[in-house]
Amino acid sequence: MPERPLRLDDYRQVVPSNTIDLIYRLAERVQGRSLLHVNSTRVGGGVAEMLHRYIPLFQDIGVEAGWEVISGSDAFFRVTKSFHNALQGQEQVFTEEMLRTYLEVNRENAARLDLAADVVMIHDPQPAALIEYASRKGKWIWRCHIDISRPQRRAWNFLRQFIVKYDAAIFSLPKFSQRLPIPQYLIYPSIDPLSEKNRDLTGEEVNAILDRLNIPRDKPILLQVSRFDRFKDPIGVINAYRIVKKYDDCRLVLAGGTADDDPEGAQVLSEVMEAAAGDPNIHVLLLPPTADLEINALQRAATIILQKSIREGFGLTVAEGMWKGKPVIGGFAGGITVQIIYGVTGYTVNSVEGCAFRIRYLLNNPEVARQMGENAREYVRQNFLITRDLIDHLALMVSLLG
Ligand code: UDP
Repeated sequence: MPERPLRLDDYRQVVPSNTIDLIYRLAERVQGRSLLHVNSTRVGGGVAEMLHRYIPLFQDIGVEAGWEVISGSDAFFRVTKSFHNALQGQEQVFTEEMLRTYLEVNRENAARLDLAADVVMIHDPQPAALIEYASRKGKWIWRCHIDISRPQRRAWNFLRQFIVKYDAAIFSLPKFSQRLPIPQYLIYPSIDPLSEKNRDLTGEEVNAILDRLNIPRDKPILLQVSRFDRFKDPIGVINAYRIVKKYDDCRLVLAGGTADDDPEGAQVLSEVMEAAAGDPNIHVLLLPPTADLEINALQRAATIILQKSIREGFGLTVAEGMWKGKPVIGGFAGGITVQIIYGVTGYTVNSVEGCAFRIRYLLNNPEVARQMGENAREYVRQNFLITRDLIDHLALMVSLLG
């Protein structure tokens, strides 16, 4: 861990200095203004990961940034999980009692939390109904991180009655947005190049971590880092590897976590273990949530990074892999399609065979792979780093606050 909190000026080592200067210029316009983020968890998931990184940087540039987390019962989180699935297009059942639970917990949190800020940013559906009960002083923005392009209608219509009360909404991709009578903005998620997961590592550090994880570096490594989730298609990855392996020697590393409260995660993990059984060149790693450095080292040791998702929100692992200078082969889904420029920063694929074909092509054309990795890192530098994200947020604050 760094010895002191990171300052904006630390980022001059990775992005052009004029990017940092622009952030300071924008920050002058919102000095002393307050920005409050509200979500439903402090650990786990991409949103919490990003908030941990944003808050100190906003504070460093003079914005009074805060972060509140709503609390709720197990029943509440079961309801919001159903919302999550329904909004991403799965058919779910909602009873009157479930909707009452959702509203009741939002009402309690609105009474408990101090939500007075110039800009209040509410993340995802869980706390979306706070706006119904809070006394509203500043501008309220709903920040949606999920794909709601084809939602189950009943769930969306219920949620929409709250969303239309916001001053604006932010989506991660143009195609994730919905028809709404309020202004909508597009902000891509981002990674922090100076975090433990993404900071530079020496060759010795990478080797030591790979040794500890028992992964020899004797042949090319294919890597997918993901929760054990069917939408990430780990079985498809194993099948693609098996096709490749008939012709080209390599190892496959599938690294990811599963949560105790996610029975499906454990089930998918056991299917993956079964599919991998008997092959000493397939390494299935179950990682704790604190494994940032391990993920960093694995991505740096990999020859090719895979993210063969069938369905995806944004897919931060793609930007993480690209930042390590690696070509990424990803499923044609969600935000993967805006990060991978076909044939330039990697390849998007639509099948196991397509994935195997592109892996073989890159394994046999190391110069192409190297150039793609270089392009990928540069593309992330321009588009998916936290500094770009800060600019987008500051520009939005300036435009909302006048
Ligand atoms: N991740 C992690 N440990 C794991 C699996 C994933 O820290 O075992 C991280 C990964 O590095 C990335 C995030 O969790 O930063 C996953 O974000 P992504 O958008 O790729 O997928 P999601 O899990 O949100 O669907």
